[in-house]
Amino acid sequence: MSISENIASIRLRIEAAAAKTGRTGADITLVGASKMNDAAACREAIAAGIDALGENRVQEMTRKLSENAYDGAPLHFIGHLQRNKVKQVVGKAALIQSVGSLALLDEIEKTAEKLGIVQDILLEVNIGGEEAKSGFAPAEAPEAARYAKTLSHVQVLGLMTIPPVESAPGENLPFFAQMQALYVDINQNIYDNKFKYLSMGMSGDFAEAIESGSNMVRVGSAIFGARDYSK
Ligand SMILES: *Cc1c(COP(=O)(O)O)cnc(C)c1O
Repeated sequence: MSISENIASIRLRIEAAAAKTGRTGADITLVGASKMNDAAACREAIAAGIDALGENRVQEMTRKLSENAYDGAPLHFIGHLQRNKVKQVVGKAALIQSVGSLALLDEIEKTAEKLGIVQDILLEVNIGGEEAKSGFAPAEAPEAARYAKTLSHVQVLGLMTIPPVESAPGENLPFFAQMQALYVDINQNIYDNKFKYLSMGMSGDFAEAIESGSNMVRVGSAIFGARDYSK
């Protein structure tokens, strides 16, 4: 299957999942997680109508930017971002989805201020409470959202999460439900219902995530094929 065929079949599954919650496929943003895929693959996904491309590694993103890999689609940063690399991402990525600490918020604010821009971001929530994962604990997220509101060069457009790896289908439904509840709570009580995105769902579980209220999915291997980690 080609990238464009994969995208077409994912769009159909997105449409079906969205319909179960009274929405349509047009309500869901499909982000292609293009890590470890080259500029040609990115261009193919853009030609096939992907809504955005998401990168994980600053170095890879910078190289592919220089190859014009993302021309024609918004670029998102979705990976773990170190503070010393913030300068390479702010103003380059239309949306930084993975902001999971107050220190990172401050660094993005400082960098965006220097550039005279407002950087759109999502707050990352570590919904499974996993030791190895970054992101705000669910209980800390409202406080972080309130703090981010005081920063004038950062605009929070919603929340993002990467739940634990599922060992069986449906296993993450409780986490997706908790995330949806947190999103509604912060959106209503802190952000005057101005949030736009709840980013959750990947190749293995995007339909479940959409049925649980997600409106942005980050899909990698189901679009681009299995990643070759031997390279
Ligand atoms: C790689 C990645 C994805 C996509 O993963 P797949 O299982 O290949 O769809 C989504 N989100 C983030 C943050 C990723 O790093």
